[in-house]
Amino acid sequence: MRYLSTRGGIAPVRFKDAVMMGLADDGGLLLPESIPAFSAAELESWRTLTYPQLAFKIISRFVDDIPATDLQALIDRSYATFSHPEVTPVVQKDGVYILELFHGVTLAFKDVALQFLGNLFEYILHERHERLTIVGATSGDTGSAAIHGVRGKAGISIFILHPHGKTSPVQALQMTSVLDENVHNIAVDGTFDDCQDIVKGLMGDLEFKQKYSLGAVNSINWARVLAQVVYYIYAWLRVAEQGRKVVFSVPTGNFGDIFAGYMAQQMGLPVEKLLLATNENNILTRFINQGDYSVGTVVQTLSPSMDIQVASNFERYLFYLFKQDAARVSAAFAQLKAEGKISFSQQELQQVRQDFRSASVDRQATLETIRQFKHDTGYLLDPHTAVGVRAAQELVTDDTPVVCLATAHPAKFGEAVVEATGDAVPVPPAIAQLEGLPTRCVRMQADAGQVRAFIILTVG
Ligand SMILES: *Cc1c(COP(=O)(O)O)cnc(C)c1O
Repeated sequence: MRYLSTRGGIAPVRFKDAVMMGLADDGGLLLPESIPAFSAAELESWRTLTYPQLAFKIISRFVDDIPATDLQALIDRSYATFSHPEVTPVVQKDGVYILELFHGVTLAFKDVALQFLGNLFEYILHERHERLTIVGATSGDTGSAAIHGVRGKAGISIFILHPHGKTSPVQALQMTSVLDENVHNIAVDGTFDDCQDIVKGLMGDLEFKQKYSLGAVNSINWARVLAQVVYYIYAWLRVAEQGRKVVFSVPTGNFGDIFAGYMAQQMGLPVEKLLLATNENNILTRFINQGDYSVGTVVQTLSPSMDIQVASNFERYLFYLFKQDAARVSAAFAQLKAEGKISFSQQELQQVRQDFRSASVDRQATLETIRQFKHDTGYLLDPHTAVGVRAAQELVTDDTPVVCLATAHPAKFGEAVVEATGDAVPVPPAIAQLEGLPTRCVRMQADAGQVRAFIILTVG
């Protein structure tokens, strides 16, 4: 399996090189040259597999440069850190299925991909006798999951930028309380998009990138999307009978999670529709419903991990929407840079509406949904998950089974849950033990030069 760039400007690379490259050297995103398909019969034969066994079946189709026993061992190690024996269990509540993706070390779905990516990096670096400097931007969850994925790992330094004061207190603590020498937290005075711009700028500087062996962990890394494909298939196997289509409702920020659902569907999973749920940062909803892809400004919401305007993984979807025409993708992003928007043909917009439906859920509706769901079922939704549940309530009116992706544990965003329900959220041990821990973090302006200087000084 070889990987190509959405912008068409690199020679094809194999899986391990795709993982190490992160962002493609031409500024595009990496995708497999073809999507491996599975048959309905194969899908049926996977019903009794454990999560790590299923993960191997899926992931190995995209990886042909790691021996099977090594790959299975990497996968086993990654999912052994989860606190639930099923890794990503599905529970049924009040007619909807909740796919619980928050049983990893940082209590958010990003652990599913980042435990795997951390082990993968370590494996490849050891084999190649190389070092890696990971630079990433986070609106909260990616950073903590990435840090926990690579803390203490040989050959890796990690620098994580987060918008100062714009993550939840628990998210900040989960990052800054990790004191391993290879972990560096940077609090930026600005928004998540500012952080992401700085990281993209550093990654786009090829000389710097090569000199310091920069790698990415944010959702532009192909291995992350790949790891996330697995739980769509796992969930389908838990809730659907043979051939039955299901709807997935996905609280969306950077488009990584829902793009993994799109890949699962392209591989052959019976998916009726992918619901793209947004908060007030609703550029993707405007795009799907009105064809308007114009960038606004980021507003702070109850679901900070979705406070994003420019969703980086959206480019991967555009590559398929544009029928794998890399020149058209490049032109679209040139237009975005020049005019702050991308224009689409009527035919393209029709295709978009076949692939997705979308709803934007505001603060009040999010709180109402948390309150009502608890009242009806006794189950606590975190505000991100609530956005997806609400979108499903608005968009699905027939009896197609609906799987809502629960992307974070409610205790991680306890303030919103208290505001909605009036009751304190029981604190799980993973959070209780953060209380009072010493922390380490440096604060900087939204200035790529400062960040670059800090990296040079630290890595040497
Ligand atoms: C990152 C995140 C999201 C958004 O996922 P994307 O892949 O960026 O679309 C949603 N919910 C939570 C809790 C997250 O951490």
